Amino acid sequence: MSNPSIPAKARGRWTELVDAINEARERYYERDAPTLSDEEYDSLYRELTELEAAYPELASGESPTQSVGGARSEMFEPVEHLERMYSLDNAFSMEEVQAWADRIDRAIGEVPALLCELKVDGLAVDLVYEGGRLRSVATRGDGRVGEDVTYNASFIPAIPATLKGRKVPPLLEVRGEIYFPLEAFERINAEQLAAGGSPFANPRNAAAGTLRQRIDRRREDLADVESRSRGTDREIARVERLQAELAVAVSRLDALQLVVHGIGAHEGVDFSSQSGAYEVLARLGLPTSDRVRVVGDLAGAREYIEYYGEHRHDVSHEIDGVVLKVDDLALQARLGATSRAPRWAIAFKYPPEVVRTRLLDIQVNVGRTGRVTPFGVMEPARVAGSTVSMATLHNAQEVERKGVLIGDMVFLRKAGDVIPEILGPVVEDRDGSERAFVMPTHCPECGTLLGPEKEGDVDIRCPNTRSCPAQLRERVFHVASRGAMDIEGLGWKAAIALLDCGLVADEGDIFALTAADLLTCDFFTREPGKGETGPQLSENAKGMLEQIQAAMDRPLWRALVALSIRHVGPTAAQALARELGSMDAIADADAARLAEVEGVGPVIAEALEEWFAEPWHREVVDKWKAAGVRMADAPAETGPQPLAGLTIVVTGSVPGYSRDEATMALTSLGAKAAGSVSKKTDYVVVGEGAGSKAAKAEQLVVPITPAERFGVLLADGPDAARS
Ligand SMILES: [Zn+2]
Repeated sequence: MSNPSIPAKARGRWTELVDAINEARERYYERDAPTLSDEEYDSLYRELTELEAAYPELASGESPTQSVGGARSEMFEPVEHLERMYSLDNAFSMEEVQAWADRIDRAIGEVPALLCELKVDGLAVDLVYEGGRLRSVATRGDGRVGEDVTYNASFIPAIPATLKGRKVPPLLEVRGEIYFPLEAFERINAEQLAAGGSPFANPRNAAAGTLRQRIDRRREDLADVESRSRGTDREIARVERLQAELAVAVSRLDALQLVVHGIGAHEGVDFSSQSGAYEVLARLGLPTSDRVRVVGDLAGAREYIEYYGEHRHDVSHEIDGVVLKVDDLALQARLGATSRAPRWAIAFKYPPEVVRTRLLDIQVNVGRTGRVTPFGVMEPARVAGSTVSMATLHNAQEVERKGVLIGDMVFLRKAGDVIPEILGPVVEDRDGSERAFVMPTHCPECGTLLGPEKEGDVDIRCPNTRSCPAQLRERVFHVASRGAMDIEGLGWKAAIALLDCGLVADEGDIFALTAADLLTCDFFTREPGKGETGPQLSENAKGMLEQIQAAMDRPLWRALVALSIRHVGPTAAQALARELGSMDAIADADAARLAEVEGVGPVIAEALEEWFAEPWHREVVDKWKAAGVRMADAPAETGPQPLAGLTIVVTGSVPGYSRDEATMALTSLGAKAAGSVSKKTDYVVVGEGAGSKAAKAEQLVVPITPAERFGVLLADGPDAARS
């Protein structure tokens, strides 16, 4: 095929692309083990189509652009679809969607009503019902011939065996997607990792792998072994293993779901629109999506695409895009199809959320409470719209559980704003040069011997809490963080500069910082201007000083969070501040007292007691106090609290009070108004319409006050109200 008009370079690249794509397809469709991420595949495919657009002579029959789907696997019997199953053209931007709509406009003189639906990340299947009974289930294959998976499909409860209703069409071929809901997908990937395998990159591969398990052969094998067994230990073990494998295979099929989204051959039933067809399919008992919308124009489609771009994780299964279809079936027929895809539909693809990248190294980070956390350093990869090069691996056990080795290709996932996660290795890609991660025995920052704090702890820590440089940096930075003292001008770099210049020995010195101090450190100064002598404070440094001053008057809970006491976050700190009111009261309370605070369990209480028992921790608090940091909240303006310490539940209506008013009345007198009756409840106020709470109160023998005496309860206390 040497053609002098095509440069050798283009020809060479074309061959490379065709080989790479065909190999990827073969791996993908036949072994369900992709070697390329969706993104890589798409980009190769696009390069190929662009190359063929520039040199149309290249587009020969060997090119994957000239066929649909992948080659048929030999594992299952072939089955010919009654009507051809097309794959869809993809769009990766709204401009490409617009170009698609423009082509429709040119062909039929308008952009008609469009049906929008989610592109489920699953496996396309073709179902044929005859006389209302399921006759066959097949994969798409090359679009004309797929694989017969009818037997396996009988283990998928989501696929109806018969159609509903009295008037079922004599023939109905429907297309749909087999997929795993997220929960099931995660469970299956955990099983894969536990067995030392690669995780499935996406639910589509998991669905394909699951559907292609030869249940029939497993059953035959089992029956064969059982019938020939003479009951030796080895035979019994073999039977048990086969039974267990079969059980796993069946349980996975059981979790698969189906959604239908297309019609093939049909008799005895007429459709005029895609959306109307879905209604008929739903009436016949086939699972359709309730997220399908018909919109009048492209603007409506854009809204749908944007909405699910933001809400794609509110759906119980993975989606990788949105499919737009011309709703009117007569117009679909007029528009027709190219050799590989219909012109009346397009799949808009969201940025991929799982990609493959190289795990270059596993390093460790020492956190602000000394916890040593391994994290993966990767070749930067674009995933879910941002570039990722690091991902936490939490602890050594997690590294082991994921089975990743340094040098592995790994699947990297990032869903929206979610923290990037290494899913697991691509085991098939290993060449033997990979090596296992070894957790360091000594702190990489200060050289101290690492160890678990208590026996049995999963985490290991650097015990040099006071002066480990890593922990110091993290703690100083943490004081300023938004959930603590909220000092915007004191960021990561400023924290490092304060420590490096020796302006603070630890977080205790932050609030005593002065302008004179900062002037001695280059990071906080600028060159003198006209008429100035010597270095001057930068604007950022001035802002930081002002913000530090302002932060000293923040509520007590913020100071408490800023101390980096393990487990003490804003919620626990607010509860402690509310109930105990001052740093001294919190410092002096023992664990038993602290654990009584609502929202503070024994773990937090113990962490607090231990923390305050450390003399240098107390010094930090004393330094802050001396600098003027507020150490107590002003007591709330309250009257007498005759109901203090009592937990009271109100159920049913209270004459003269709304529910909120009754609650307010109780809390203003010091009571805690609870929503449900438990052993901790002191009194239950029962009014008209009281439900199960009254019964529960009787069952738990909690004193009951009738609602008519609510006023007496407020005025004279519970004893008066009961008598
Ligand atoms: Zn250290």
